[in-house]
Amino acid sequence: MMTKEIRVYGIVQGVGFRPFVHRLAEKYSLTGYVANKGAYVIIVVSGAEENLDTFRRELVAKAPERASVFRVEERETEAFAGGKFAIEESEADSGSRFVSPDIAICEACRKEMFDENDRRYLHPFINCTDCGPRLTILDEMPYDRERTSMRSFPMCPACSEEYHDRSSRRYDAQPIACHDCGPTVYLLGSAARGAAAIRALRRAICDGKIAAVKGIGGFHLCCDATNKAAVRLLRERKIRPSKPFAVMVRDMATAEREAELPKAVRAVLDGPEKPIVILRRREGGKIVAAVAPGSRRVGLLLPYTPLHFLLFDYPDGLSMPDALVMTSGNPPGAPICRTDEEARETLAPLADVILSHDRRIRVRADDSVTEVYDGGPYMIRRSRGYAPLPVALPMLEKSRDGVLAVGGELKNTFCLGQGGLFYPSAHIGDMGDARSVDCLRETVERMASLLAIEPHVVAYDPHPAYHTTSFAASLGLPAIAVQHHHAHIVSCMAENGRIDPVIGVAFDGTGYGTDGSVWGGELLLADSRSFTRIGSVEPFAQAGGERAAREGWRIALGLLQGEAVVEIALRLGLGDEEEIEAQRFLIANKINTVTSTSVGRLFDAVSAALGLCRVSTFEGEAAMRLQCAAEAWTSNGAVVKFPTLGLSEDGHIVLPTAALFSEIVNRRLSGASVSELAAVFHASLAGLIGSGCRAARDKTGVSTVALSGGVFQNTLLLRWVESNLRRDGFEILRHRLIPANDGGIALGQAVCAAARMMEKT
Ligand code: ZN
Ligand code: ZN
Ligand code: FE
Repeated sequence: MMTKEIRVYGIVQGVGFRPFVHRLAEKYSLTGYVANKGAYVIIVVSGAEENLDTFRRELVAKAPERASVFRVEERETEAFAGGKFAIEESEADSGSRFVSPDIAICEACRKEMFDENDRRYLHPFINCTDCGPRLTILDEMPYDRERTSMRSFPMCPACSEEYHDRSSRRYDAQPIACHDCGPTVYLLGSAARGAAAIRALRRAICDGKIAAVKGIGGFHLCCDATNKAAVRLLRERKIRPSKPFAVMVRDMATAEREAELPKAVRAVLDGPEKPIVILRRREGGKIVAAVAPGSRRVGLLLPYTPLHFLLFDYPDGLSMPDALVMTSGNPPGAPICRTDEEARETLAPLADVILSHDRRIRVRADDSVTEVYDGGPYMIRRSRGYAPLPVALPMLEKSRDGVLAVGGELKNTFCLGQGGLFYPSAHIGDMGDARSVDCLRETVERMASLLAIEPHVVAYDPHPAYHTTSFAASLGLPAIAVQHHHAHIVSCMAENGRIDPVIGVAFDGTGYGTDGSVWGGELLLADSRSFTRIGSVEPFAQAGGERAAREGWRIALGLLQGEAVVEIALRLGLGDEEEIEAQRFLIANKINTVTSTSVGRLFDAVSAALGLCRVSTFEGEAAMRLQCAAEAWTSNGAVVKFPTLGLSEDGHIVLPTAALFSEIVNRRLSGASVSELAAVFHASLAGLIGSGCRAARDKTGVSTVALSGGVFQNTLLLRWVESNLRRDGFEILRHRLIPANDGGIALGQAVCAAARMMEKT
């Protein structure tokens, strides 16, 4: 006999998890109980050891479809005295609230919706306890119809019966609705409602027009993804020349036609979160190249609301395309539109037709975006379907004061934390836009009240020009500054459940260094409270101010050495003579010039020097093209011969990236292929990171490495870095569900602040 206490973290509430545990325990003749603790489910089970083992395995392997177990903690405990296994009602642990993310429509509801004999035939708001909106319709906790957007829709007798019937799939399903009592869809600026509105929308899409459609967490702009003219029109109207659009495909078979879908990818693409998954395109697909110009990749997602399914299939005789562009309906950098007023103001000029509905969206949630790496999600934007699930750090359980972390400037998210649980928010936007700052303020208030966390301190990035810095100051709370790259590393540690010292490799575009220079290629010795900068890539001059961040040719010019700089720059096609001379003048006279260790800029420079991208039209474009070129080389299995470059070190470890750049340029001038050199650059950088970490280990005795920062969105680099580090016996911490980019730093800020507060008490 043995007794165990098991804590299960993840989506384990409102998804039938406790009845499942109950059945499983009875199957293996175990006694004990299961109870909700707010952010986790606690299970105490007694029985024969081998039965406990099987129970433990099946607990995760056979969990209900909509459950998603992120973490299981278990320990042996005192024997449990009691008869049968029971589901216990219990108080939530104080300070830890669980708000469910929105869940994609389930298979049972989808079938009913297309069943002519069902009373919810073609109802655009069908849902059940396994599926439907959650966070985005919530006014207040506890989660109850009265405190959601469904308050304005009193249940009809038939819905009420299902809602109160324990044997019904809709028992206690708060957003329950039907044709008689549920919300209605309608066209903005037209009298068309219900079926007529849906038909008009489908007609418009078929005709190559641009539509806006209200979804779960905001409006989408939508058009036929198999129609080149329609996609071009959307690009023109949205003034978005080449940034990729996500495409919603009708079903898995269509996804299969368009992209490579290994098993792990299918699981993520079709999971209850229904994120956008970045995939490798297949030859012969029907989605036009204009959705992602110059890229071998495409971001696909499956329909996740009843209305999406009705866009693809409706009994109106139209033959709809099976792939639709679905891009956030927002002005660039601003938050996604969620109300009719916002849609009228900002989407009406872009869309020929706007389909809305009267179920209010309370909290915005953009689509989440992920890659699949090593069999699981590797998040780029963590939003709908994931937010606001908490990250748990039990070692900080005793930090009782609420913490608010306001995040960074681009891809802003914020994070609330208390008692060792940290709740990263959905995507907000780029803080350069005043509407994003308003949205941040409003969403912080809403989430703080939903999660019952009253912030006692605010953590922020000390960059003087960040709008989040002034927002933090405006709150009138004690403020804790957390350096940008430290926040990246702590976010990575936190997602791996760690707070102890690591070697942090923080590579990104830009972050404010403690010496006032631009950092972005840092080796840190860090724990969750503090850090020392023990190394970096070789500093270079970044001239041209704001423009240097978009124009890789300017960085490349700054990195060129020797006599014949102008001639080389001309041969590489970095610019015309006038531009080159003007930029050289800026560099020589240190006008508008900062010292930088940004690896993001280094990628831009290499991309420009190889003729792949001289000027980026969206953030990360140059790096994306460089990665694509490198993958084209490695996918053929070609060997990558890269130079051996020694580190220089006098207390501070320096990765010789300038020498690496010269090597790439020299090989380019002597005729090596662009894709080979792109691969050489990736492999060399991975090699340098490996050497840097070995030097750091020699220096500090620490042999765990955390990899974070936007550069690690590059999965080719990540793979090679991981393989180098593994060979050298390092323990590696990397991201999974928290983005490596600036969308992840709020978590790091919050954890750092909580850890520092704990230290004080
Ligand atoms: Zn359902
Ligand atoms: Zn009803
Ligand atoms: Fe960053």
